[in-house]
Amino acid sequence: MSPEAPPAALRLRIDSEALADNWRALDRWSGAARAGAAVKANAYGVGAEVSVPVLRKAGCRDFFVAHWGEAAKLLHLIPPQSISVLHGPLTATDAAWGKAMALRPVINSLGQARLWHEAGGGLCDLMVDTGINRLGLPLSDLADPAIARLDIDILMSHLACADEDSPLNATQLARWQDARRSIRHRRASLANSAGIALGTDYHGDLTRPGLSLYGGVPHPQLAGHIRQVAYPQAAVMQIRQLNPGDSVGYNAIFVANRPMRVAVIALGYADGYLRCWSGLGTMLGQGQRLPVLGRVSMDMTVIDVSAAPDLREGDWVEAAYDLPGAAKISGLSQYELLTLLGQRFAR
Ligand SMILES: *Cc1c(COP(=O)(O)O)cnc(C)c1O
Repeated sequence: MSPEAPPAALRLRIDSEALADNWRALDRWSGAARAGAAVKANAYGVGAEVSVPVLRKAGCRDFFVAHWGEAAKLLHLIPPQSISVLHGPLTATDAAWGKAMALRPVINSLGQARLWHEAGGGLCDLMVDTGINRLGLPLSDLADPAIARLDIDILMSHLACADEDSPLNATQLARWQDARRSIRHRRASLANSAGIALGTDYHGDLTRPGLSLYGGVPHPQLAGHIRQVAYPQAAVMQIRQLNPGDSVGYNAIFVANRPMRVAVIALGYADGYLRCWSGLGTMLGQGQRLPVLGRVSMDMTVIDVSAAPDLREGDWVEAAYDLPGAAKISGLSQYELLTLLGQRFAR
């Protein structure tokens, strides 16, 4: 017997064409700038192993991860020089490892600049904080000699409200322009997915879309042009018949008022299909919309398959999961909907 386990009862279908098309669309909308790709958090849950080669083939050359460990998993797919590590070196060990692997840290503070110098330095990126007050070098530290000594490829900043019409956008833009004038660098970058929709001024030399690559629509201007990429699917494990008065699942919150045919599927909140979908979610199977009944459990969900009389145990159904629509129904953000998708999905 092979020690390999049988195939999973849930899988994430990835539309690679849609992923490539989304990148090309975002690259086009970035005008004279090139689009990179945020592939942190396992490419937002879609799967970095699958996504990175697709993005690279589409033409993407700049990839952003948060952690060093995420970069490590990409080293067999793309050259280290094309990977920026957003969190930067937190310790001397981080800096030494990054240097040894020829990866590019994003420097976020004077302390990180010193760690990088002490590890031998070399090409890096610099994140300046222009108003989000998250990770990034305060503008008041920009003139420090430790920064002047850096060999900076991408001078970047990050927008706090790109998905809104906020005065903070123009404020951050002006501060980023100031930083571009005051520090030596090769390329400048400001916009995430939503930032691309804010127009040419925000594009610089390189944009950094994440969410919209994977089907998210964070700005109305992108609506209609971004395609769904990730489709969660689960196997039907059991079909059962309910009589009027029978309840379904924990706490018996759904009670049948007619005879019903229901299916138990191998998808639960441990897979990222959270309890907020209880009584609200929809599965698609045999061309029908199949509503979620009662509470979502850890490893399974019950759906009404009365409309799909031919659906059998062992068949597959697909969660309705177009991100803008799913966010409205579930109350989760489009980012959460993607990054929640768990380890048990075959990707
Ligand atoms: C995650 C991230 C992005 C991508 O943002 P989206 O809103 O997903 O497009 C870009 N830049 C930085 C610094 C990030 O952390």
